[in-house]
Amino acid sequence: MPHLRLSPELITLPEGLIPALVRGARCRCPRCGEAALFRKWLKPVDRCGHCKQDWSLQQADDFPAYIGIFLVGHLLAPVVIAMISGGMSAWLTLAILLPASIAMLLVMLQPTKGAVIAFLWWHGIGAFKQERIREKQDL
Ligand SMILES: [Zn+2]
Repeated sequence: MPHLRLSPELITLPEGLIPALVRGARCRCPRCGEAALFRKWLKPVDRCGHCKQDWSLQQADDFPAYIGIFLVGHLLAPVVIAMISGGMSAWLTLAILLPASIAMLLVMLQPTKGAVIAFLWWHGIGAFKQERIREKQDL
């Protein structure tokens, strides 16, 4: 089978890990930044529509959900403490914060998965091939 990807010379690879993560978090292809990374909410495209990177290789698994739970928990913990210590009942606190925490998790899950896929691709983890230029490996 012929090599379907555009070579790195024909596309603009991200300058470092952070730009790759930003591309992924914006739900764009971390390799080229030109095409959508997801075809459904959490389902990545099989191949990038621009650079033909094979995204079916990604193995993000449950890690984006773990990151989301970690972030939502740490963001809402001070709010819970403030609400309870302010005299609000535990049931009212739960009734307010449970839907808020679910909504926050659902909103951040796709960008988090995009960033995790970008991280895996950038570091060549799993089936991804590390293709960045050697002298730009500082991150
Ligand atoms: Zn691409």
